[in-house]
Amino acid sequence: MDRSNTPRGPMTTAIHAGEAPDPATGASAPPIHMSSSFVSDDISGFSAHDIQDHSPYSYARWANPTTDMLERKIAALQGTDACICLASGMAAATAIFLTFLSAGDHVLVSDVSYVGVAELARDTLPRMGVEASFVNMSDLDAVAAALRPNTRLVHTETPVNPILRLTDLAAVSKMAHEVGALVSCDSTFLSPLGMDTNALGVDLVMHSITKYICGHGDAVGGAVAGRADLIRQIRIEAGIHHGGILSPFNAWLIARGASTLPLRVRAHCDGALALAQWLESHPKVIHVTYPGLVSHPQYNLAQRQMTYGSGMLTFQVGDAATGQSLARQMIDRLEIIHYAVSLGHHRSLIFWMETQGLMDTSFRLSGAAAESYRAFAGDGVFRLSVGLEDPSDLMTDLDRALV
Ligand SMILES: *Cc1c(COP(=O)(O)O)cnc(C)c1O
Repeated sequence: MDRSNTPRGPMTTAIHAGEAPDPATGASAPPIHMSSSFVSDDISGFSAHDIQDHSPYSYARWANPTTDMLERKIAALQGTDACICLASGMAAATAIFLTFLSAGDHVLVSDVSYVGVAELARDTLPRMGVEASFVNMSDLDAVAAALRPNTRLVHTETPVNPILRLTDLAAVSKMAHEVGALVSCDSTFLSPLGMDTNALGVDLVMHSITKYICGHGDAVGGAVAGRADLIRQIRIEAGIHHGGILSPFNAWLIARGASTLPLRVRAHCDGALALAQWLESHPKVIHVTYPGLVSHPQYNLAQRQMTYGSGMLTFQVGDAATGQSLARQMIDRLEIIHYAVSLGHHRSLIFWMETQGLMDTSFRLSGAAAESYRAFAGDGVFRLSVGLEDPSDLMTDLDRALV
């Protein structure tokens, strides 16, 4: 175990936090503990409420040493007391909503968010008696007007999927805390290294660890990081009772990926900036959105709040029909970039996201909210997750399809 209290840099933290040589064998690499049960030398209770911080391992739905290792690593990278890992990013989002919201409560959710979260908040929460309202979180006046005395949670996502609009987290957190609401932020697009969420006042940081934290596109998982008392509540509710725990095998894979996170995000960002600049001057491209470009409408906020621009960018080529036919061309012609959903992998991934389709199925926006969406996305965007390949090869590949 990491016994030192000396502050360490992010690369050392990513490699060593949560890990220790195996005391039984001296193995330098962490073992995978595939055990569901743990032999007990104590007669203890069998309720989720019997769980203590230093309870011995008993059953893997409570805790497992391999999953613990990953939880400690993510907490250390995020700079929080604690973290819980769950079966997917969606399990993490559901855990936040169902742990902290009850019938009669109000939740404020970003009007654009990961589509699964958007649909969960619009369709499932009202069935549970939770009132959800949706607001453009980049409009602070709209946020102020939407908060209520019974608002228990404000759920943000920044940069938001898929349009890369940003939320001023310090300002939103201040307003939310004034009415006694918790603030959660889906920080999947930035990973734990992209923002100082403690300084920004975020109470619960969620990640789809399927993305940058794993980094290799071979395991699905989710995480929520925050204060120990909040994470303990999630562990009881979502882990032990709802049961959507992460398997130790996936925890091991994702921890292995997390060890190189600081190096990888740097390369993802360097590649994304190079591609964004190249696309901005490409004759077939009419607009590029990337928080690290001066042309991003919230560039100043990006500079203030984010430590880097992320590995995600979007670009537009024209109306929906033009986008659609170019998507077809990409499927046929791309040799390196995979035409596929998801993000944060070492392989580059691209996907066409048509605006009207998303409006009809997931976001259901109208008026000023729909206008703000279109200001960032037009009739649709190509969302590019820039991988770790040589940027010059990615440019050659895109050029093959952008004809
Ligand atoms: C992928 C993603 C999720 C959902 O995560 P899964 O691991 O696929 O369940 C949530 N939020 C964002 C921003 C994502 O990109």
